[in-house]
Amino acid sequence: MHGGTLVCMDAARTVARGDLLVVEGRIAALGEGVPAALAALPGGRVPESFDARGALVLPGLVHAHLHLCQTLFRGLAEHSDLLRWLRESIWPLEAAHTEASLAASVRLGACELLAGGVTCVNDMGTVHHTDALGETLAATGLRAVFGPALMDQGEGVPARLLEGAERALDRALELARRFHGAAGGRLTVSLAPRFILSCSEGLWRDVTEASREHGLLVHTHLAESPTEGGEVKAAVGSHAAPYFAAHDVLSPRFVGAHGVWLDDTELELVRRADAALVHCPGSNLKLGSGTADVRAWRRARVRCGLGSDGAACNNRLDTFAEMALAAGLSRAKHRDDPLRARDVVALATCDGAAALGLADRVGSLEVGKHADVAVIDVAQAHHAPFAERDPYTTLVYAARAADVRLTLVDGRPLYVRGGHAALDAERCVADAAREAALLLARAELP
Ligand SMILES: [Zn+2]
Repeated sequence: MHGGTLVCMDAARTVARGDLLVVEGRIAALGEGVPAALAALPGGRVPESFDARGALVLPGLVHAHLHLCQTLFRGLAEHSDLLRWLRESIWPLEAAHTEASLAASVRLGACELLAGGVTCVNDMGTVHHTDALGETLAATGLRAVFGPALMDQGEGVPARLLEGAERALDRALELARRFHGAAGGRLTVSLAPRFILSCSEGLWRDVTEASREHGLLVHTHLAESPTEGGEVKAAVGSHAAPYFAAHDVLSPRFVGAHGVWLDDTELELVRRADAALVHCPGSNLKLGSGTADVRAWRRARVRCGLGSDGAACNNRLDTFAEMALAAGLSRAKHRDDPLRARDVVALATCDGAAALGLADRVGSLEVGKHADVAVIDVAQAHHAPFAERDPYTTLVYAARAADVRLTLVDGRPLYVRGGHAALDAERCVADAAREAALLLARAELP
């Protein structure tokens, strides 16, 4: 692609006008290196080039905490708080999923994500139909870490979502054998015990062992809401982070969503284990959970990323909205020294990739990395007049998902100027409406 401003998100935070050359799914050259690399190609040219003039060229956005199974539930579980939202709405709705409804939910979410510049997701599935989740993710073209939600106990959990610890783990490992490294390396399987209140001590022990043995990420939730914290303490005698530390669940393979209520001692446990956290400001505000102190996470050098959580608690799957919220909330909490816009863009790109253990592959525009790229048009009225003076503030405070013009994964254009390559957006919306209506009719809601 040519003519854009490259916002590289490399260690030096390079921003430069220039071209980006993609060869066989990888970044072959950028900026000043492009002419020589082009000359070395057969014929001295590439078959096609995207005109990125007036645009910022970013590493594809990394969405580090998501539930694509919940996209069909958007708007169905309003005005609630976390535990009531789970017990009265989300779990009964998840229990009503079929393979068809789950696939429709994933495709609907993927349409929105790709159109918003997201190239990589970290998704927690529901308990069942995770094969369908993997197959559908593969077909969307997204890069994805995913795993079945593991639940073997808990108040208000429908029987259909409960499995014995052994069976839950066996099925997750079976999925790993099938999907880990599949779709040209785009898919990665994780173990996803939902949270402390839905998982027995034995399940945590088994997950920890399996994670160590097979090198799989453990994706879970922790310290999300005050009522959840109270129930966790009543159930296991401590808050989530000390419990995880005592059971060796915290490790460099741990990715924990929310962390809103972590105190300094708990954050130190996370840091010491080199575990990662994911900030989900939109979800935290909508469920009234609170405000995470992401500046403290970064100062403690905890790896961290950004996510929207599922569409049932946000209701957007829009990284630009999350970036604006993350910046605004940090400013409200630390008026004189908040997260800078550049740090917020890092959360959604290079830092998110590092949180998922993918920093050697994606998250920045650097030669040799996979060509996961998002091109953001900043030549519109709502960016003018100084769109490129500080591209980070433009991205965080002015840009919108609708400004994305091109989304590449492994160099493959999946979204180009309003059109999807691997998905039929109109059909995805129609399928989602049909499947959501059927699912609602099946669901045993209180
Ligand atoms: Zn979540």
